[in-house]
Amino acid sequence: MSEAQSTEKKPVTYINTPVAVKYDYTAGKATSDFMRAVAQGKILGNRCPQCNRVYVPNFLVCVQCAVPMGEPFEVPDSGIVLTFCIVNIKFYDQVLEVPYVSAYVLLDGTDLPLMHLVQECNVNDVRMGMRVKAVWKEELSPSLESIRYFKPTGEPDAALETFKEYL
Ligand SMILES: [Zn+2]
Repeated sequence: MSEAQSTEKKPVTYINTPVAVKYDYTAGKATSDFMRAVAQGKILGNRCPQCNRVYVPNFLVCVQCAVPMGEPFEVPDSGIVLTFCIVNIKFYDQVLEVPYVSAYVLLDGTDLPLMHLVQECNVNDVRMGMRVKAVWKEELSPSLESIRYFKPTGEPDAALETFKEYL
């Protein structure tokens, strides 16, 4: 049997097909307001007048009640680690050194967590309920990358009863 014949019978298990898509994204009013605030070192949320939830980033309409949300207001840049994962595997184009922590941070007085990094501590010390605060870049821009990461404050952890409804 020739080399060509034996190759033909092998199953194809991998193909490389580079694809590129160029598109423009229109942020819309709510996201634009949020990003402009971030560029000033502020985080915006807003409250649903019906269910009273505070969303971060601010939304135009409550996803639960389908009613217009209230006016955006600044929320604290501190809160708790709601859930998290320790990333141990370096993936394509990854710029962070592994291991690192990616977490859902529930800012104080809000009801929707923000996904961000937790640093300035050992990854094994991160825990649910840990108090954290944003560390901002010196040069701000309309991007969540203006927040470098969240760091532990050293305050006592929040009790599970105070955040279990968000899990
Ligand atoms: Zn609502």
